[in-house]
Amino acid sequence: MKISSNFDSGNIEVVDASDPADVRLRIRKDTAADFFQWFHFRASGVRGVDCRFSILNAGEASYRKGWENYRACASYDRAHWFRVPTAYEEGVLSFRLSPQHDSVYFAYFAPYSRERHRDFIARCQVAPGVALEVLGETVNGDDLDLLVISDPDGSARRACWVIGRQHPGETMAEWWMEGFVDRLLDRDDDVARAVLEGATLYVVPNMNPDGSVLGNLRTNAAGANLNREWAGPTLESSPEVYHVRRRMTETGVDFALDVHGDESLPYVFIAGGDNVPSMSDRQRQLLTAYFESLTRANPDFQTEHGYPRGGKPNLTMCANDLAENFGCLAMTLEMPFKDNANAPNDAVGWSPDRCRRLGADCLAALCDVLPILR
Ligand code: ZN
Repeated sequence: MKISSNFDSGNIEVVDASDPADVRLRIRKDTAADFFQWFHFRASGVRGVDCRFSILNAGEASYRKGWENYRACASYDRAHWFRVPTAYEEGVLSFRLSPQHDSVYFAYFAPYSRERHRDFIARCQVAPGVALEVLGETVNGDDLDLLVISDPDGSARRACWVIGRQHPGETMAEWWMEGFVDRLLDRDDDVARAVLEGATLYVVPNMNPDGSVLGNLRTNAAGANLNREWAGPTLESSPEVYHVRRRMTETGVDFALDVHGDESLPYVFIAGGDNVPSMSDRQRQLLTAYFESLTRANPDFQTEHGYPRGGKPNLTMCANDLAENFGCLAMTLEMPFKDNANAPNDAVGWSPDRCRRLGADCLAALCDVLPILR
């Protein structure tokens, strides 16, 4: 058997792969920080072999509760990802498979590659009403892409921002982007037309391209956790936030949705932006209206399970910063790595298809609240 991870978003270290029934691995830390949980590797020479892979340092990972009731993702063709039997015992995560083909990929969640991102941006920019802006460079000199989507005939009084993947291991955020943007670009869709009649959409599908390619869980190439940089981003350590935040001051922000994945909770929920010092009744009403609308639009979204509310708001986080400084509806959307416990899917768990569906339905919820945004 051969284990490899020297590719886009690869992450694994081999301790001992001499016995397929007891392959011992470790996840490596983010390239410039101590976080780790994302893994992505290929095992080859495995057709018909009973394999067991054990991640020995899982118990030291950033979110240990993330391993409870978690099942690893696998794919033969890198298009369809399925779940495999997985156990977490005494700090070790183990999963088993007797592969039907010569090689198989494993990952923490269905990966979203830089090439797919480039294809997505290229496909979107040729659609009517779409402009592509490169806001600046990442730490490693990659492009930070912004899609500006508008209807030239619309009144477009409002500026709506949607960003994703500040945390690069949360690939579900970029799968979500495909659903959201593809619906927005469907000119036969009533919801899309209504949104673009009243708003210009500013979409950053991937806030952290470097961390994504590097196979990091949570940080960029300089080791910065981008969702803790919003109070004072710098060109040296967090240019990704710096450039986006600067563009936001030019456009204003009437609506902001920051898309993430949560390692531990097996639910879709919204957090953040609801407890800042300047929070107004109007913002609270908008939040309630968005929750109600998204509950109607998408069966996976719920408001019962989520992070504890109250406490001191962390103004270095995107949604809090924007709610505080723009007085707008600003939210953090969380999707599970595991599954939706209210509607589990044994074969694939929470999946790219469900991310896309949620993205499309989040546009419907935006459509509902758009007239009252300001
Ligand atoms: Zn996150």
